[in-house]
Amino acid sequence: MARNGQRLRELSLRDLTVDDGFWNERLRLVTDEMIPYQLDTLMDRVPGAPPSRCVRNLRIAAGLEQGTFEGFVFQDTDLAKWLEAVAYSLTRKPDPALEKTADELIDLVCQAQRADGYLNSYFSTLHPGHQFCNLKEGHELYTAGHFIEAAVAYFEATGKEKLLVAMCRFADLICRVFQSPEYEDAVPGHEEIELALMRLYETTHRERYRAMAYDFINRRGTTDYLSREAEMPRFIDVWHDRNPYIPEYGQAQAPVREQTAAEGHAVRALYLLSGMADAAGSYEDEGLLDACRRLYENVTQRRMYITGGVGSSGTLERFTADFDLPNDSAYAESCASIALAMFSKRMARVTGEARFMDTAELALYNTVLAGVALDGKSFFYVNPLEVTPSFCKPATDKAHVEPRRRKWFGCACCPPNIARTVASVGGYVFFTGDGELRLNLFIGGTYKARLGETPVTVTVQSELPWKGRVSLEVKARECLEGRLLIRIPDYAENPRFTLNGASLDPPVEKGYAVLELTGWSARASFDFDMPARLFYADPRVPADAGKAAVKKGPLVYCLEETDNGETLSGLQIDPEEPLSERFEPALLGGVTVVEARGQRTVWDGGLYSAKPPGRTPATLRLIPYCFWGNREPGEMAVWMRLKC
Ligand SMILES: [Zn+2]
Repeated sequence: MARNGQRLRELSLRDLTVDDGFWNERLRLVTDEMIPYQLDTLMDRVPGAPPSRCVRNLRIAAGLEQGTFEGFVFQDTDLAKWLEAVAYSLTRKPDPALEKTADELIDLVCQAQRADGYLNSYFSTLHPGHQFCNLKEGHELYTAGHFIEAAVAYFEATGKEKLLVAMCRFADLICRVFQSPEYEDAVPGHEEIELALMRLYETTHRERYRAMAYDFINRRGTTDYLSREAEMPRFIDVWHDRNPYIPEYGQAQAPVREQTAAEGHAVRALYLLSGMADAAGSYEDEGLLDACRRLYENVTQRRMYITGGVGSSGTLERFTADFDLPNDSAYAESCASIALAMFSKRMARVTGEARFMDTAELALYNTVLAGVALDGKSFFYVNPLEVTPSFCKPATDKAHVEPRRRKWFGCACCPPNIARTVASVGGYVFFTGDGELRLNLFIGGTYKARLGETPVTVTVQSELPWKGRVSLEVKARECLEGRLLIRIPDYAENPRFTLNGASLDPPVEKGYAVLELTGWSARASFDFDMPARLFYADPRVPADAGKAAVKKGPLVYCLEETDNGETLSGLQIDPEEPLSERFEPALLGGVTVVEARGQRTVWDGGLYSAKPPGRTPATLRLIPYCFWGNREPGEMAVWMRLKC
């Protein structure tokens, strides 16, 4: 565990105000664009976007409207994630009109809830009496998990208990049902309820929620319940999917403690791992934590794109095999990187090791942010590392890859998930522990916490992700005594620290520099170099062989056709030449552009030719991957061929 068994905690979003040159605009987008836009989509008010029917379905379930449920079995979750994003947004920018709308939608959710606590508009309207009869496909526990997360967030943000009380009733029903003999070996098809019940336990301190989460985790891989389900009397088809259940797809190939590789559906796997990390920390279960470590290493050392994307296969949205990371047919769902950030943050919190935050930061700054356009109104579900738009044809192995963000999706898990994640990014910045504060992500703002018994206010200024310059001021009404720990990220070169104006060479503990604070206030700074660097891949990744990518600090860079002309595959980067950087305030809202020297192929043959290609010198211009696809549609590539 973290340090002598101590518990690290995140700050409440009510105790922080992000004020940061990079993130302010991202947070503004959530509040001013994504939340209103997504409400319009949930209420089917956006011309040209696929109808969501989300709110309408709940109105039908509540008896307020006639009609038939439409959409996916988990359609309710789009509203749950939207409510969670609203909760976080209200902590940043109070908005009585928005809060009133959210309250009304919570009223609707409560009206759609059945007397026994059950909530799911699909089953309630189409198949009443068949709840929890198809856990493999039904997503009821996944949907419950998202509503529980929304309820906790809304309570924390507003102090209003209505949704929390309602979701406790649902959680109580889940505990009763899934502890009964009939369901004693049942597990969720799509994980999420585990981490949600842990969150509900942390808020309510009701032991039964934690115990149920732990049971679900411990049952997985030990039971054939999901294989037997179709023979049970109340079973009904949801997706008319007669394929046999594949245990690996649902992370059930072995008991979780014995698993050696992250398998199956990537979002499911990483939501499960998030719940496992929470439970491992809460129960001080070293065996479970060992499994989390093992699976984390497998994901990040063998199955993750350099962008923090995971789940490389468009078929079944799944992990495939070690080093199978194709760039142009990558799936890398936005939700999977969100889940990776959630899992990594939990691992940092439970273990006290800074290195897990490298992964959380990578996923957030690259794949998660790439998921939304600069206007907040279109989204990527799939996050390829290489795109040739004409190749992205239906009924091919790249059918899932889209060269442009879409207004919405029939299966719209990603857009509201991005909204709630970006809106809560301030929760990644600090952990508090016994007499210590830990700075994880370098995001400016004002953060209120306790250092020991002393309330403190920490003001952070950061020039990331463009420059490695961070300063902190800690103020208290009493004399300070405690430790300030600052994460040294994997990309920091030549780290330099000062405390109250004096340079120091602090000890490093689990990847954090440790500064001892005394006096009434303290000023600290952390400077480091983070020049753009070329990165190379393990040769066991065939897709990246003979290629390099550019990374600067947490940001991965890419080529776009707009800057480099067509046929990006004809460009080669010269690894012997230095990279140059330039901040361009007018480009994409202000970004640092990286330029590299190299060459361009000159081709005058047909499809094939015995004559070797010619070469001409070229300058390659790269922008941050998270901002790709915001100009004219065209080719994009993260990995570039090396000049040889
Ligand atoms: Zn998604």
